Amino acid sequence: MSASTDPSVKSSTAKQPRKAMRDYRPETRLIHAGTQRSQFGETSEAIFLTQGFVYDSAEQCAGRFTGEEPGYLYSRFSNPTVNMFEQRIAALEGAESARATASGMAAVTAALMGQVRAGDHVVAAKALFGGCRWVVEDWLPRFGVTSTLVDGGDLAQWRNAVRDTTKVFFMETPTNPTLEVYDIAEIAKIAHAAGAKLTIDNVFATPLWQSPLALGADCVVYSTTKHIDGQGRCLGGAILGSEQFIQDNIHNVLRQSGPAMSPFNAWVMLKGLETLALRVQKQTENAAAVSVALDGHPKISRLVYPGRPDHPQADIVRKQMRAGSTMIAFEVKGGKAGAFRFLNALSLAKITNNLGDARTLVTHPATTTHQRLTPEARAELGISDGLIRFSAGLEHPDDIIEDLLTALQAA
Ligand SMILES: *Cc1c(COP(=O)(O)O)cnc(C)c1O
Repeated sequence: MSASTDPSVKSSTAKQPRKAMRDYRPETRLIHAGTQRSQFGETSEAIFLTQGFVYDSAEQCAGRFTGEEPGYLYSRFSNPTVNMFEQRIAALEGAESARATASGMAAVTAALMGQVRAGDHVVAAKALFGGCRWVVEDWLPRFGVTSTLVDGGDLAQWRNAVRDTTKVFFMETPTNPTLEVYDIAEIAKIAHAAGAKLTIDNVFATPLWQSPLALGADCVVYSTTKHIDGQGRCLGGAILGSEQFIQDNIHNVLRQSGPAMSPFNAWVMLKGLETLALRVQKQTENAAAVSVALDGHPKISRLVYPGRPDHPQADIVRKQMRAGSTMIAFEVKGGKAGAFRFLNALSLAKITNNLGDARTLVTHPATTTHQRLTPEARAELGISDGLIRFSAGLEHPDDIIEDLLTALQAA
């Protein structure tokens, strides 16, 4: 007798949690939130690798399409594995609602495009991930949406940029790659006074160390490609906010334009969430140890780490983040040549443009993520030719430090 016809096998055999998921601590929510077990009672979440669903009758099918009958329709709209991932990340973030997307850029693009129409205006911090800045500066204007880029740390610039048509404020904090930190609560107040909504790209902070919605933001976006996968396997993204925000701005945009996350990738991300707290904690400790080891090194002219008292916005870090960061930015002396000598002399740390991985990764922003910008625009953002973006991995901190110090000697 197969399990599915065995009358002793009931659906959802697992016990229900003792209390509401939001009353558990983040580490616990990362393991249990969103789990939907099939009739087989599997321990680990199932991968529902299916594009669609079949129905018992034409009436049931029609009922699903009108929404009168609950259930799945088509994986561009929703899928059980993707839904588990959405519920788990929403529970971690403390958001009412979440939607998964195929990549971080799909999340950013849908979050921004979903909130505006021709004639609207966006205010964004100029220190943005390259792709995000292209969407704001180059793509939105093609649809009649104008934008103003401001120095995110200067509250007066946010205030002065506001127009009657301003609908969206957008920024990342800490920023990529220079790790500047902006005051989410204060900037949310300025946005709301202007009748606009604040969207935060929270990739660098991770949901563990910063909760923008609790600080007053209206929408949070992630590239789950980074810490949430955390082992360099899949692309993914997420958009989080209130149920109202998602329904008003995001729900139909995603359903009808189709940047859906694959169920397989959603499963990888679900498994990533289970170990996220452990990994981010350890990577943050490793980054802190590296920042101490490199402090005052004769080959380094500048070092920025949000966990240190000498960070330029240390007071804001203390106010809005629970810990420092898994990332460090530092400037190797000798410009591009010095930086390249250093990068080429590394052996453990890998040269790449990803971050948040189990492996220690290093990036040269001026020739990769930010090569599209003019030298003047890079200078304005503090992205010098010697700047290195460092992402701490899970290796032993002494091995990472030894690799960096040896390579600095060669620089
Ligand atoms: C990587 C990244 C993105 C884009 O994410 P993809 O998954 O690569 O599309 C957006 N914002 C930030 C801050 C990032 O680091």
